[in-house]
Amino acid sequence: MEATTILPRRPTRQVMVGRVPVGGGAPVTVQSMTTTKTSDVDGTLAQIYALAAAGCDIVRCTCNDLDAAEGLAQIVPRSPLPIVADIHHQYRMALAALEAGVHCLRLNPGNIRKPDHIKLVASECRDRGVPIRIGVNGGSLDERLYEKYGGRVTPEAMVESAMIELAYFEEVGFDDVKISVKASNVPLMIEAYRQLADVTDHPLHLGVTEAGPLPGGLLKATAGIATLLAEGIGDTIRYSLTADPVEEARAGRQLLEALGLRERKSVDLIACPSCGRAEIDVIAVAKAAQEAFGEREIPLQIAVMGCVVNGPGEARDADLGIAAGTRRGHLFVRGTNVAVVPEEEMVSALVEWAEFIVEHGVERALERADLTAAKAAAEADRAALLDEQGLDANNAGQRIDVIRRI
Ligand code: SF4
Repeated sequence: MEATTILPRRPTRQVMVGRVPVGGGAPVTVQSMTTTKTSDVDGTLAQIYALAAAGCDIVRCTCNDLDAAEGLAQIVPRSPLPIVADIHHQYRMALAALEAGVHCLRLNPGNIRKPDHIKLVASECRDRGVPIRIGVNGGSLDERLYEKYGGRVTPEAMVESAMIELAYFEEVGFDDVKISVKASNVPLMIEAYRQLADVTDHPLHLGVTEAGPLPGGLLKATAGIATLLAEGIGDTIRYSLTADPVEEARAGRQLLEALGLRERKSVDLIACPSCGRAEIDVIAVAKAAQEAFGEREIPLQIAVMGCVVNGPGEARDADLGIAAGTRRGHLFVRGTNVAVVPEEEMVSALVEWAEFIVEHGVERALERADLTAAKAAAEADRAALLDEQGLDANNAGQRIDVIRRI
């Protein structure tokens, strides 16, 4: 299934992180960062494999000491994903990570400041064909810029920090660079990236840094990242959550799929919010369906709807769905009723039909169904529910009458 998006994309040059292209029209990629000690080779690799399974494309590991660099030397050849070494303070760790064979470096211009050190690392990267991410971070902005901009972190200060670093790289003929200007403040981060996008064609790595635990962190990160992606800005993304990094990868992947920027890999489960008409516990059934599908590669939109009165119509664009009738579920494929199943088999029936559609397609699914019988059963339940509940299942008319009499 092709990724389909109507969002604009900002033209950028392309950087290769190992075999994964970033920018230059490539699909937007998902990044995350391991939380293990990098010297724990097996533990780190286990996390990297879990990240890859959750939809991560590029992974970052800290390289904060020589043990970590030695770990990287063993991790890189066994990793399913390209590795970015995260470097702070010590330029020598950048050199050690390059010796370990990493596919990219992340440098923080706020804490590696000596021009000679920066240029030495850039020269090594140039000679080895290894890109660098200039990773400006609002919380660790170069103190000189912080002072220059009145003791505040501003979008202008963050962009200037990135541009100063880029100029050092250019002095040694190195421009294989992507850039990030992350902040934990969402409006600040959005404005910094907008300004950066105006002054450079390097690919941009988006993120709201230190977004925090779920669910607030997810909302903050999504607010920042999605706003920019909707404007065409951003070539690779990372959710910085205080959670298992697998959650970061899942969130990144789901956001890109929701925006049509990556082709769908797993189920897009939609469900009605439930209301007075619901004939089932929609939250419980949707949760059971989510668990049943899990991470399985079923690239379909699947709907769980609380009633057969409105469900099949409201979810007619879904590939497959189920709507509750009177103690039974009505399965529908692209809005056409195809089968009736007992209430307790609703989730297993969804899984079975989803597997059938993935293997044989929608047409075959419709062919195997007794459409007349399914439609008659759905209409009978619909009529029964309307008879029982009326058109106004939430008694809004009655409530309005009472309000008017106050
Ligand atoms: S009318 Fe039916 S499908 Fe719509 S929210 Fe209510 S229960 Fe769900």
